[in-house]
Amino acid sequence: MEEKKANSLSCPVCSALHIPQKQNLKNGIFMGTCQSCGHFFKFRCSNSVESSITITVNGKSYSVGSEYSGSTTLNSFLRDSRISTGTKYMCKEGGCGTCLVQAKLYEPITMEKQSYAVNSCLVPLFSCDGWEVTTIEGVDSTSVQAVPKRLAQYNGSQCGFCSPGQVMNIHALLDYHGGAVTKQMVEDASDSVICRCTGFRPILDAMKSFAEDVPDIEDVHTKRCDRTGQTCTGSCHKQSSQLALKDAQWFKPSTVPDLIKMIKDNKGKNYRLVFGNTGFGVYKELDPKNFDVLIDLRGVTELYGIDFDPTIVLGSGLSLSQLYDVLYRGSNEPQFGYFKEMCKIISKVATSSVRNLGTWAGNLMLKHKHPEFQSDIYTMLEAVRAQLNIVLNGETRVIPVSEFLSQDMTDSVIVAMFLNAVPDSHHIRVYKVNKRTQSAHSDVNAGMNFDIDVTQNFRVKSQPTIVFGGISKSFVHATKTEEYLVGKALGDQNTLIGK
Ligand SMILES: Cc1cc2nc3c(=O)[nH]c(=O)nc-3n(C[C@H](O)[C@H](O)[C@H](O)COP(=O)(O)OP(=O)(O)OC[C@H]3O[C@@H](n4cnc5c(N)ncnc54)[C@H](O)[C@@H]3O)c2cc1C
Repeated sequence: MEEKKANSLSCPVCSALHIPQKQNLKNGIFMGTCQSCGHFFKFRCSNSVESSITITVNGKSYSVGSEYSGSTTLNSFLRDSRISTGTKYMCKEGGCGTCLVQAKLYEPITMEKQSYAVNSCLVPLFSCDGWEVTTIEGVDSTSVQAVPKRLAQYNGSQCGFCSPGQVMNIHALLDYHGGAVTKQMVEDASDSVICRCTGFRPILDAMKSFAEDVPDIEDVHTKRCDRTGQTCTGSCHKQSSQLALKDAQWFKPSTVPDLIKMIKDNKGKNYRLVFGNTGFGVYKELDPKNFDVLIDLRGVTELYGIDFDPTIVLGSGLSLSQLYDVLYRGSNEPQFGYFKEMCKIISKVATSSVRNLGTWAGNLMLKHKHPEFQSDIYTMLEAVRAQLNIVLNGETRVIPVSEFLSQDMTDSVIVAMFLNAVPDSHHIRVYKVNKRTQSAHSDVNAGMNFDIDVTQNFRVKSQPTIVFGGISKSFVHATKTEEYLVGKALGDQNTLIGK
């Protein structure tokens, strides 16, 4: 009997490919007759093969499997099966927000599942294994406290097309914060859904009527394990598995070693890593339908790691919203005040619902594939001189972000980033120039990192970092200006006019 990974299996006689289905497997062994040459053969599968995933919508559980293609989105599943026709779609790029639903996702700070508004038009159906989804049909619409009723009372719907998205957006926000939201939080979240007829004022008035103006995000609380009673380490995870779909293989690794193995097994094949899949909203070539093998990173627990002692390590599975939360909490620590600058920029990336699913690592990879992409995250991480932990061909490497774009990332995974304590003499600023303050790509962005002696007319002590995005695909650093400024006094007019 041959030892083989559970993927497409090749007949040892005629090489015809077969996808093992669960019913053909017994004790991890696939037995079957080749449909091409009739040879009877056996293979041992290394992962558990599943034939379906389970998704709960409005409290009802659905089992979905190979009757759907790997590129099916949560939105088309909900609408085509008539489970939720109240969930709309329009742009299919994560831009308009009419497709918003509420999803319970793993949240690494509290180590619990939390509610987030997500763009169902970008979420691959097979990412949703174990998700609890709430759509507009599952929302209380009659009580005084109900979001739909409040929207109606404040005349917040005119044509009504965006109303389900508006409701789900705030419903998820209220759920996440246990009802305790501030007006600012509501306003910040309003970037997720575009309304073209009310002018937004009545929608904002309706949603802000839920605000209590609580002063701060609640304290981190530690979750106890139901099984052991110990502090949850987040290490209880499902076994790695895979789904054989009608047009693709969907792999679900649960550990980094399993992930590396799956990448190795699929080397040379038309595969892609998937996290939030929001990159598809920007670059259509990422459409899951263009790939034979999809490797879903959401279940890999190590990628959610957060460590502050002694180095700051932030896992690549942190969504932009989660990254914001972690940085916001750490920003009052000595030598980490620059986290406030990072938060300022993160809050201007995309919309809050895209940030709820999209990761900083996925953003960096968009920049890697498309150097012309005006990534705010790349510019920010380059300005703060972050380092990346990458697994390349099974080997772990730590590289500065400045080397990332020239790194061959074939068959590689970004595992985490490292951030450093920065002495108070360093001044870090990040800027974004865009057409609107919310929901718009940068025309140009910039990041500066200067070590300055303020007692000597703001003398630049060492080579600063001056980074720009959106200028051209090859321009990142203003290298000559960086070199010129070393030792110069910024308070001196001659520095500004000098060459
Ligand atoms: C409407 C909209 C507006 C946006 N606006 C902005 C903006 O203003 N500024 C900005 O900077 N960005 C913007 N973005 C981009 C957004 O930030 C990215 O889409 C998101 O961060 C990608 O993360 P993801 O987890 O969804 O990646 P995915 O879409 O799942 O993956 C993207 C790519 O990264 C690869 N990948 C993912 N994770 C890893 C990993 N750990 N290791 C190796 N490869 C990996 C995937 O294989 C894929 O090639 C916008 C996106 C949308 C949809």
